[in-house]
Amino acid sequence: MKITRVESIPIRYPLREPIADATHDLAVYELAVVRIHTDDGLVGHGFAPALQGGVEIVAQLTQTMLAPMLVGRDPFHVRGLWDEMFWQTQILGRTGANRIAMSGVDIALWDLNARALGVPLWALLGGTGATRIPLYSTNAGWLSFPQDVMIEKMLAVLAQGFHGVKMKIGSPDPRADLRRVAAVREAIGPDVPLMVDINIHWDLSTALRYGPKLDQFDIDWLEEPMNQHDVKGHAQLQALMQAPILVGENLTSVTVFRDFFEQRALRLAQPDVTRLGGVTRWLDVAALARANGIRVVPACWDTMQVSVHLAAATPEVHLMEHLDWTAEIFEERLQIESGWLTVPTGPGVGCTVREDVLERYRVR
Ligand SMILES: [Mg+2]
Repeated sequence: MKITRVESIPIRYPLREPIADATHDLAVYELAVVRIHTDDGLVGHGFAPALQGGVEIVAQLTQTMLAPMLVGRDPFHVRGLWDEMFWQTQILGRTGANRIAMSGVDIALWDLNARALGVPLWALLGGTGATRIPLYSTNAGWLSFPQDVMIEKMLAVLAQGFHGVKMKIGSPDPRADLRRVAAVREAIGPDVPLMVDINIHWDLSTALRYGPKLDQFDIDWLEEPMNQHDVKGHAQLQALMQAPILVGENLTSVTVFRDFFEQRALRLAQPDVTRLGGVTRWLDVAALARANGIRVVPACWDTMQVSVHLAAATPEVHLMEHLDWTAEIFEERLQIESGWLTVPTGPGVGCTVREDVLERYRVR
């Protein structure tokens, strides 16, 4: 089987409801839709989100820097192709748009290979045997929601059966943030898992001062408290806190994860399949996490469609995030019932963006 053509199509569509955290203010969602065509007639589907106006750059990068080197190649040489894509693009940087573009292509290659074999991606990777994955919900906890609205939404998702809620803080007033966390803990009760996400927004002094105060609310993890490159700062904070620090959705290399593990700067790893360079590098980080005795919570912003396969092939994953930003754009609808996500059994990844969505929301 040989690759004959690679497409990357930018699409942009409105979210059902605008949201904000400490770092992002989003009314629209954007992703580059990747399609890899072959001489066998099979098509591999991948995608890569790039928010806040970045999606055209990602699609352009794929078309001009990655597509020409992929045509004529065997998609089963996916690890070799990953290394070639890396060297092809590294002059522009080893993170950001390059890595997001590579991620979309890498996902499409794995999708293609799994389709060629007629198995779901998790089976190609080696499944854990899990048939469903518990979900926690992020949909209710946005910083832009007034406190009473947020709590009402949280109680609603918990009533649906979700296995915990995440809330966003990192406002200009950390004391107000603590009061908001206290109100949520009071409303949901002592036994419901509660995660708190700063979205890399605190500086070191704020993190060291206010991070440990979150322990009184028995949070299940503190997510991305500060600059994702400050490994030493995270190690300092983790040493002061009982709650695990979770980091990863903004880490773009295995090397940085290695430093976090070695310095005990996190206790939960959150590798992101669309920031690291796709399935290939995600698996490398998961293996490193295993070697360090660290559990993995896949980042999903919103990449559940791929992450569910990774979760079903990684014993270190016990929980996944639920967002609903891409729930309706794929031909293959994920099944969610009472807070459980069913592991799909169809061939490939199952991230075929619907033709009518492509037609309607394509950036021209
Ligand atoms: Mg986060």
